[in-house]
Amino acid sequence: MTKPADSDQSNDSANDSEPSENLLGFSDLGLSEPLLKAITALGYEQPSPIQAQAIPHLIEGKSLLGVAQTGTGKTAAFALPLLSRIEPNKKKPQILVLAPTRELAIQVAEAFQTYARHLKGFQVAPIYGGQDIRGQLKLLKRGADVVVGTPGRLLDHLRRRSLELDELQAVVLDEADEMLRMGFIDDIETILSSAPEDSQRALFSATMPAPIRRVAAKYLKNAEEVRIATKSRTVEKIDQSYLIVHYSHKLDTLTRILEVETFDGMIVFVRTKSESTELTSKLEARGFSAVALNGDLNQALREKTINRFKRGGIDILVATDVAARGLDVERISHVINYDIPYDPEAYVHRIGRTGRAGREGKAILFVTPKERRLLKTIEKANRLELKVMPMPTGEQVSEQRIAKFQSELMQSIQTEDLTTFRELVEQIAHDTETDIGEIAAALVMQSQKQRPLYPTFAPLPDASKRPERGQRDQGRDRPNRKNPSHDSGKRRDAGDRGERPPSRRRQPREPDADQQRYRIEAGKSHGVRPGDIVGALANEAGVEVEYIGSIEIGENHSTVDLPDGMPKDVFEHLKRVRVRQQPMNISLVSGDNSPGLSKPAKSRKPNKKLSLKKNRSA
Ligand code: AMP
Repeated sequence: MTKPADSDQSNDSANDSEPSENLLGFSDLGLSEPLLKAITALGYEQPSPIQAQAIPHLIEGKSLLGVAQTGTGKTAAFALPLLSRIEPNKKKPQILVLAPTRELAIQVAEAFQTYARHLKGFQVAPIYGGQDIRGQLKLLKRGADVVVGTPGRLLDHLRRRSLELDELQAVVLDEADEMLRMGFIDDIETILSSAPEDSQRALFSATMPAPIRRVAAKYLKNAEEVRIATKSRTVEKIDQSYLIVHYSHKLDTLTRILEVETFDGMIVFVRTKSESTELTSKLEARGFSAVALNGDLNQALREKTINRFKRGGIDILVATDVAARGLDVERISHVINYDIPYDPEAYVHRIGRTGRAGREGKAILFVTPKERRLLKTIEKANRLELKVMPMPTGEQVSEQRIAKFQSELMQSIQTEDLTTFRELVEQIAHDTETDIGEIAAALVMQSQKQRPLYPTFAPLPDASKRPERGQRDQGRDRPNRKNPSHDSGKRRDAGDRGERPPSRRRQPREPDADQQRYRIEAGKSHGVRPGDIVGALANEAGVEVEYIGSIEIGENHSTVDLPDGMPKDVFEHLKRVRVRQQPMNISLVSGDNSPGLSKPAKSRKPNKKLSLKKNRSA
């Protein structure tokens, strides 16, 4: 077994030197042309450490034991080399992937489909419990090149002889420790022993408990072993924290951080070139001065961008790892890991961009609920304990906006000649017999319409709370844990109970924990589109767009999720607001039905600041 690629490196400080960099590009790894084309289109700039280590072995046909968890890029680490070796259209599976849950099976199948988009006639079949078996039988009969499935259902198909393994080139066990934890170990062994003896094997697992080691010793003889580096570095002086945040709330979270943190220069790390340009445009649209720094920039443009950043012409760089390499800019006070780095090494490398030249720096890491384990690895390897950063609240954002408003106002008072305007105000006060304070209040109200000083904020759903046990397991292809060897023919996987439809069809979901669902009496038949509802809510009630949740448009009515705790005056006003000429007639759907008030059971105080903005009339 080979040693981890960088296990012989020294423990140097990230601030003083560049950590080891894996300089291999995707084109150095022996991948076939159609796959390289797909990777380029996806915007992947560079192989992740697990990819750089695993791909060369797998492309040579060797078996592989990979210690890696979700978020490290492990799916591409096996999918790319194995796909490079197959001949599509053989009408029988050449690659079989075993995954613990149907969610993962679907995700992996989708990844295969994406990577194989330039392989003509390529077919992948996701096979899992909970889905009508007839559809799967059809799919397999038509001939899939790759089958990705949960062990229970795969075994059913093997027994029915609908899954034939005689053309199989490779078997992958993905998240093997998870499959063990779920009691699939016997099923896995049965499947592995049914695969051709000379087929290539790959096993990926976040941990290597003894039963997994035993399976590896028996079915993955002479496997190469790769793992992501676990050496530690010192990163004192950098204040490090993390936030558990759902993928879909990353942008809102970043926006709040940008509003409440006092920063000089900031780097926001993302994974792909496309993400860096997309996020940059979204930040610009929200009024922040950001520029993308990615591998698509030629050297001259890169230098120009960095110089502008150094001089303070830009405050935020949205960068990929490759592009930020070697960046040494003193004014970087903050590093935001918008996408978690692949490994502990990359984490230290990234955060080392701040705290330069003896200054203090701050590093904030976004972790999606699925990436918690990778966070643990990063902490353990770097001997760190990151503290939890609380989600910035609406009040904090409001305070910052007011402070900024006040300072800009003072700046005008101190530096501008206001004589003419002062005379105008006095004139208006005199003519209308209005108090000057009242006039000032009206001016403030008008000036903050685009960026309200008291925005309608609701806490984003707390992603750090784990779902209830039952919820979490829902959808898992879970066998009888007490008796894992129980005859799978009789067994009903959790999925077989049909709790959830198998397809990716969108289901109306419950509103998030801190939101309530409202019904609007206007729908498709009135020509209503989601944008109309957003527009009406934002313009008529001053609800900030980012706090408008999911919108469903029905035939004659629609629903919208809005922050919990809407004050009664806003609610009453919204009833009269029109959308596509129809009065909204808004009413509460979720929770109790007392109109316009937050749930009394929670005794939530309505946010006084969420007052009705009396702008355009309904
Ligand atoms: P995984 O660990 O396989 O769950 O992958 C985590 C995420 O990283 C997925 O969204 C992949 O699309 C993405 N990813 C994988 N490899 C790369 C790469 N080399 N560059 C950028 N993103 C990648």
